[in-house]
Amino acid sequence: MLHVNEIRKDFPILDTHVFGHRLVYLDNAATMQVPEPVLRAVMRHYHEDNANVHRGIHALSERSTRALEEAREHAASFINARSADEVVFTSGTTASLNMLADMLVAQLPSGKAVVTTVMEHHANFVPWQQACARTGHPFLVAPLDGRGDLNLRALEGLLDANDVGVVAFAHVSNVLGTVNPVNKIVAAAHERGAIAVVDAAQSIRHEVVDVQAMGCDFLAFSGHKMGASTGIGVLYGKLDLLEGLQPVRFGGEMVDDVRIAGTTFTRSPLRFEAGTPNYVGAIGLSAAISYLENLGLGDVRARETRLIRHAEDKLKSVPGLKVLGAPAVRAGCLSFAIEGIHPFDLATMIDKLGVALRSGNQCAQPLLHEEYDVGTITRLSPAFYNTVSEIDYAVDALVRVCELLRSKR
Ligand code: PMP
Repeated sequence: MLHVNEIRKDFPILDTHVFGHRLVYLDNAATMQVPEPVLRAVMRHYHEDNANVHRGIHALSERSTRALEEAREHAASFINARSADEVVFTSGTTASLNMLADMLVAQLPSGKAVVTTVMEHHANFVPWQQACARTGHPFLVAPLDGRGDLNLRALEGLLDANDVGVVAFAHVSNVLGTVNPVNKIVAAAHERGAIAVVDAAQSIRHEVVDVQAMGCDFLAFSGHKMGASTGIGVLYGKLDLLEGLQPVRFGGEMVDDVRIAGTTFTRSPLRFEAGTPNYVGAIGLSAAISYLENLGLGDVRARETRLIRHAEDKLKSVPGLKVLGAPAVRAGCLSFAIEGIHPFDLATMIDKLGVALRSGNQCAQPLLHEEYDVGTITRLSPAFYNTVSEIDYAVDALVRVCELLRSKR
């Protein structure tokens, strides 16, 4: 059981007032707020240990390097990687997937396709699409089934009808909240000799992310979706696969030997971390993992599930509101459209009542256009520190805003 009143004290921003109303922050799928212990860990590092890593033989540099490598160990154990060498620090999911797409597609035998899905965030869609366009590899997209779940049969059809080298998919959709059956998709990819890449940006807080249980080859996530700062993320890869990739970012620390005639590269993970890494971000990420572990990951996930179910029920009371999709398992967020109300008008007005929702295309234009024929929608995404009464307040505010907008016509 989480003691939410106590937990909220770790997030002073939740007591902020916006336009005279206490903030109701329901935009956690975009970014989660940062708890005090994470801020303290970052401050402590700057106060006591700060120095560039891997570069000096002085005390602070050694302490800083040790803290970075402990953070790597911690991130590795959090996702159950076999070794810390499988954890590459990046600036976030987008950076992880861009780098991976560039590296993997460059090495794909000619004619092999990349398959992704229509529910992907642009970060797991455009990098593959662009890498394929550059290199001439086919880029294929699996559809949904009408309920907001991936159409597994259609995906398998794509895998059978084409010579596929990579299958890249989200664990959890950032629009529908669909939780994809990772094991089934990974198995389908592996049975055809394809590499399986998981975008865990949304799932990292809501679901168990265990790379060995998932069996995936690569996985990406961002720290800021789990209570760390922005600018830190992870690219996980099976070590033998990472070691087989040619880096595409070059600079200090990732090299072995640099001569005029040519350069050799060091091993993973430093091979993929050119330049000064965001070591303070990594230390914050480790503190964020500790924070969630101390709360109890099972309790965090159970509470977020309860809140999203409550939101789904409560939203039924809003006239003209349609929740997008009804996937078999939903986690973290849901999106909706309201008849006759533009999402931007809605978000602007509900903001004046203190409620932070996200309106826009949620960086998922293929999904919105292909499956729902809409350009913009509104998303509600609670975190464990939200309360049922905040959701009730937000939904009541929605009703008021809709009435006002309709009365003005
Ligand atoms: N994938 C998904 C499913 C996401 O929700 C997001 C963030 N909204 C990203 C990728 C990109 O994450 P970031 O902006 O932290 O790189």
